[in-house]
Amino acid sequence: MYRSHNCGELRASHINTEVTLAGWVQKSRNKGFIVWVDLRDRYGMTQLVFDEERTPKEMMKRAEDLGREFVIQVKGNVIERASKNPNMPTGDIEILVSELTILNESKLPPFTIEDETDGGEELRMKYRYLDIRRNPVKNNLIFRHKVTQEVRNYLSKEGFIEVETPYLIKSTPEGARDFVVPSRMNEGQFYALPQSPQTFKQLLMVGGMDKYFQIVKCFRDEDLRADRQPEFTQIDCEMAFIDQEDILNAFEGLTRHLLKEVNGVEIEKFPRLLYDDAMRLYGNDKPDIRFGMEFGELNEVAQHKDFGVFNSAELVVGIAVPGGNSYTRKEIDKLIDWVRRPQVGALGMVYSRCNDDGTYKSSVDKFYDQEDLAKWAEVTGAKPGDLVCVLSGEKNKVRAQLSALRMELAERLGLRDPKTFAPLWVMDFPLLEWDEDTERYHAMHHPFTSPKPGQLELLKTNPGDVKANAYDLVLNGNEIGGGSIRIHDKETQALMFDYLGFTPEEAKAQFGFLMDAFQYGAPPHGGLAFGLDRLVSILGGQETIRDFIAFPKNNNGRDVMIDAPAPIDDDQLKELSLKLNLKS
Ligand code: ASP
Repeated sequence: MYRSHNCGELRASHINTEVTLAGWVQKSRNKGFIVWVDLRDRYGMTQLVFDEERTPKEMMKRAEDLGREFVIQVKGNVIERASKNPNMPTGDIEILVSELTILNESKLPPFTIEDETDGGEELRMKYRYLDIRRNPVKNNLIFRHKVTQEVRNYLSKEGFIEVETPYLIKSTPEGARDFVVPSRMNEGQFYALPQSPQTFKQLLMVGGMDKYFQIVKCFRDEDLRADRQPEFTQIDCEMAFIDQEDILNAFEGLTRHLLKEVNGVEIEKFPRLLYDDAMRLYGNDKPDIRFGMEFGELNEVAQHKDFGVFNSAELVVGIAVPGGNSYTRKEIDKLIDWVRRPQVGALGMVYSRCNDDGTYKSSVDKFYDQEDLAKWAEVTGAKPGDLVCVLSGEKNKVRAQLSALRMELAERLGLRDPKTFAPLWVMDFPLLEWDEDTERYHAMHHPFTSPKPGQLELLKTNPGDVKANAYDLVLNGNEIGGGSIRIHDKETQALMFDYLGFTPEEAKAQFGFLMDAFQYGAPPHGGLAFGLDRLVSILGGQETIRDFIAFPKNNNGRDVMIDAPAPIDDDQLKELSLKLNLKS
């Protein structure tokens, strides 16, 4: 028996008990005649004491030599502490050690194993196993476990079956590049790692599984952003014989359950917003609705004067910044600089101060009178004391710019409290989106998404206007899930591939198996997938998904701990019939 108790559980009620503990040396304090050692494991910390009077000399010496992160086992008696520590659950007691065994020594760790460490991120990733010993990382992993456990509990109770699908597959079109794996046994051929189990879960519906879920790794070879990982985890779900309403209810139920069980937050009905309205009101398909600052479109009340910038713009749009009239001229200039940064890309910003006495003072007083500015305030919902910020230009661009400004200002105003949760559904996404690079329409969600009833015809004339049976679940300005009602008949699916520019041969080569399956009684079906890493980090009140992944990759997609990716040797290449033709 390595231990009778863990390092977090001994209390005053255990005084006078003989115990055996094992763990890591957090730190030791040597006062000469007495040595205190903090012993740590996953469950907590317990203070050990060795003293000249009661500890044999030989053991005293070994206690003095204990280094940080040594792994030790101790036997001893639980005694009352002379000076209690009310900040520690075990702070009433300490262990008077009678036996000390060093199970393993440790090199000095490259950073301190403390809640606030001195280690930079890259160093902590290289020694992630040490980082995991720290409370913040450890607690995040425990938190993630709780979330996944609740997901499994809830979905199982609702009749969902967890089914594993293969990792060595063929390309799935989720809009990213595939990671590929060469096949030794099939010379010159490659598997693709799944960008999602999309086609398999649809086949499970054809197979009659009715309600499927899987907590599953997905792989997408994309340029990395701070909150993206090349491999990430989805809660992937699919249901048969359902309509959109059933899906929304089922997964609103799951999300509500998680918010309640994990965060103790009860939310009644999630609001629903059409995609078009989300874009109009927030300039964003994943709006953060923890705060207002909705867009007010100003074309009608700003394009009737001689101000050329506005008159030539497709959209003039503003937001009211609560209390923003208190900004100094210098602060506003800085804000203007902020929107002109290349990352945001606005050419400039017009503003109107809403004074407490009901008058207005704008940066374009030359063109607009008090009556005009009063209308701007009305449209943007600005009150006395607020600041109206106005951008103009091409519709999609200006919406994105104002959305960035809205989020930035809300952050500065402290309106994005991570402990407040504001979920919503965004629905009726466009079926297709125009891709500037390839000059073609692409499926906005994926090619298996069905168009809204009766809109198939519109594909021929106005493809960009066709709406899809597609929905996203948004939480605090992040897309945490997305899905659609699928096409389930071969003809429509073939038509869809055709509109997306696949030749019948290409469609058959890539997705023939799915279209074949659709000929054998495919039920109506649909589903969605949650991004688990992001969901967990938002529920955990934090921004970065990496903090909730045991062994994450860095910004270059590298695992700096195991040093991957890495070259493979010539024999391995030969075995795979591969020859490298490196660019550099
Ligand atoms: N496969 C989709 C995705 O990864 C989710 C879905 O449509 O169910 O986004």
